[in-house]
This record gives sequence, C-alpha cells and structure tokens, in this order.
Amino acid sequence: MFPVIFVKSQKGRQLIKFGRYTFYKHSQSRSKMRWACSTHYSKGCKASIFTAEGHVLSMRDQHNHPEPELKPPPTPMFDVSQYY
Ligand SMILES: [Zn+2]
Repeated sequence: MFPVIFVKSQKGRQLIKFGRYTFYKHSQSRSKMRWACSTHYSKGCKASIFTAEGHVLSMRDQHNHPEPELKPPPTPMFDVSQYY
C-alpha cells in the first residue's frame, strides 16, 4: 500500500499522489472532496479518491490504463484550469 501524498503541481494546483498515479481535485460536496485520476478524461479512467479534511475516506483504485512513468515532480497530464 502506497501512502497518499498531497502535492502541488508546477502550476500550483493541488494534486494527490498515490504510487505513480496522480489525482486532481474533481469536485467537492459539503464535507467530501473527490479526486479523479489525472488521465480520467483522456482515457476514461474511473479511479478516484475521496477525502475529508485531509484524510482519505475511500479509494476506488481501479485504473483502466498502466501506471504512468515515474517522473517527478508530478504534473497534471492535461489542463485542469476549467475546474477553478
Ligand atoms: Zn487512472
């Protein structure tokens, strides 16, 4: 099991890093934050992480693609600016 790490992209956006995968902030309900795999839109990946107050509530760790290459620092694989 990999630790979940909260990171910031080079553009200053908040991401979650889990193993070699990164998740971007997808949506927020009253108390929960949903993070989607950063390749979600390009490959239709449904993997996601739910957090509340910095803690992981649940994880749907079923990616439909291989692990990305490890190349730190993590960067979003597409422009997520439409969500901000
Ligand atoms: Zn994925």
